[in-house]
Amino acid sequence: MIDIRNLHKSFGKLEVLRGIDLHIPESKITAILGPNGSGKTTMIKCVLGMVHPDEGEIFLDNERITGGWQYRENIDYLPQIAQFPENLKIRELFSMIKDIRQRPSNEDDFIELFGLEGFLNKKIKNLSGGTKQKVNITLSLMFDSPVIIMDEPTAGLDPVAIISLKEILRKRKTEGKMILFTTHIMSLVEELAEEIVFILEGNIYFQGTLNDLIVKSGESDFEHAIAEILRNKSLVIKPSAS
Ligand code: ADP
Ligand code: MG
Repeated sequence: MIDIRNLHKSFGKLEVLRGIDLHIPESKITAILGPNGSGKTTMIKCVLGMVHPDEGEIFLDNERITGGWQYRENIDYLPQIAQFPENLKIRELFSMIKDIRQRPSNEDDFIELFGLEGFLNKKIKNLSGGTKQKVNITLSLMFDSPVIIMDEPTAGLDPVAIISLKEILRKRKTEGKMILFTTHIMSLVEELAEEIVFILEGNIYFQGTLNDLIVKSGESDFEHAIAEILRNKSLVIKPSAS
């Protein structure tokens, strides 16, 4: 589980995270939702130790991780924007990441699943956006860690790849992994998320199931519930007790 307590982060005068308190349960799929710029990536980067919060604490399985680094071994992370040396071939990129992480990996399964065989000798800079994302997903999932954090994994993916991604995440969930992702793709949330966290202007506006969200917003379906929250920001839905 991940526990976030009173997390604050500002960039200059911009207050991005304004005292986030959040409990993310283990062995569940949690979707982090919120409009662009609401602080989703910043919060995730705080969990990864890539952004240093101004205030607050983060715990992974009851251990305080703020300022630590070893806990990252247990996290598979897909950044929203992955940057690697553009001249590396995909094959070399896989070797490099394996050298760094020094863990058993199953990249071949993903290479087959996403049809990446023909791209292994191509340079990163020559790949299309969608293929690059398939490579990034492979890099993030091939070590089979207990915690999976994916920041907009569907970006650029074609419908077939999105279906494959859903299958992988479903399987990982049955293996007892904790999965956290952000997305703007409603079907991913509707089909996978057991818990939804909605961030708005640096605060948690809602935490609960999809059904809770629909009921509390008074709307008929998920898409309209989200639209209602965005339209009427004064409609503060308190996080459910966790
Ligand atoms: P989201 O992922 O929800 O779209 P982000 O967490 O990426 O939002 O960004 C939240 C806000 O913080 C945005 O206004 C963004 O421009 C700003 N921001 C993020 N990172 C930085 C940074 N390193 N320096 C300055 N501003 C940043
Ligand atoms: Mg983001």
